[in-house]
Amino acid sequence: MIPYAQPWLDDDDRAAVARSLNGPTLTAGPNVERLEAALVDLTGAAFAVAFSSGTAALFATLQACELRPGVRGVTSALTFAASATSMMAANAQVTTVDVDPRTLNMDLRSVPGDAEVVVAVHYAGLPLDLSELPGGPRIVIEDAAHAIGAVGPHGRIGNCARSHACCFSFHPTKVVTSGEGGAVTTNSQALAQRLRQIRSHGLEPRPDWGPGAMEVVRPGQNLRMSELHAALGVSQLAKLDRFLRHRDLLWELWSEGLAPLAAARRRVTLPADAPAGQRHGRHLYVLRVPALRDHVRAALAEAGFGTQVHYPPLTEHRGLRIAGPSANAWAAWHDALSLPLHYGVSPSDVERAVDCIRHRVRSPGHAMYA
Ligand SMILES: *Cc1c(COP(=O)(O)O)cnc(C)c1O
Repeated sequence: MIPYAQPWLDDDDRAAVARSLNGPTLTAGPNVERLEAALVDLTGAAFAVAFSSGTAALFATLQACELRPGVRGVTSALTFAASATSMMAANAQVTTVDVDPRTLNMDLRSVPGDAEVVVAVHYAGLPLDLSELPGGPRIVIEDAAHAIGAVGPHGRIGNCARSHACCFSFHPTKVVTSGEGGAVTTNSQALAQRLRQIRSHGLEPRPDWGPGAMEVVRPGQNLRMSELHAALGVSQLAKLDRFLRHRDLLWELWSEGLAPLAAARRRVTLPADAPAGQRHGRHLYVLRVPALRDHVRAALAEAGFGTQVHYPPLTEHRGLRIAGPSANAWAAWHDALSLPLHYGVSPSDVERAVDCIRHRVRSPGHAMYA
């Protein structure tokens, strides 16, 4: 079975983790600093702060924003729960904005004027244009869990040219992994300092209390990344370009193979790519298959290809109680299909899967009577 997403580790990655076991510390140490330096290098932001997960990165960032209770926060209707729960944990009142039906990216132009905080999700890796956000003072946090290595209209994602902070995830389904892990980039020294405090119990040295004494200067948690995870993250991040180039190739093969189906009476719709001069993060290849999505999905599973649906809209989760415009997100929930797009997928795998999709879409009756 070829899963829709899968990490790709080599002997260098394994050796890096093994070496970390001989390091000066197992909790945050030199490898975490190396990962943060590599992220500063990659994004061009002034600061990077690593966390135990992408969710931890989002939670800490929203906590660091010190929102007034009840302020209005918005995010995409079509995203992972953490985009919203991070704001909820910081006492914001969260509503959704719907997605553009073509790009599946949130429609920034429809963000209400009274929304004081926005978690802006670069869906599938397609960069948002944050200059589309209607004016007004507000806090803008990017959820770039899908978009490491992507380049938007204002430069590299993570440079925070139009945001206060940008959050990444190194979960094993993402383009580079640290096992579990995440990070925040920002150009604000004050925010970076607050993030480091929140990451580690809100502690700061308090030398007048005695040698090694620490004082809690704000309520914090333990959201640190370990040295083992950071070692893997550093090693994986060095391969980002290679991973992205392979994903570029697969993306092209999927699109070439499926283009005839997209042309013929719009049986499928191909995902939107980044405009010229920008770079898509290539986290997900999301095909739209109106009416026949579940048949195609079953046929692919039978042929050995795993797929996923990204996402049930936030408004559908019983435990979230989030409302807001979501009609286009709802449509995507019913016809979107994320196809395998990772280093472990070969060109001939794509060819086989494309044949399988063509067959199933061209003879839907077969599916109905099967
Ligand atoms: C993966 C993901 C997260 C959370 O990252 P974790 O590292 O799994 O905690 C947040 N937002 C989006 C959009 C994601 O895809």
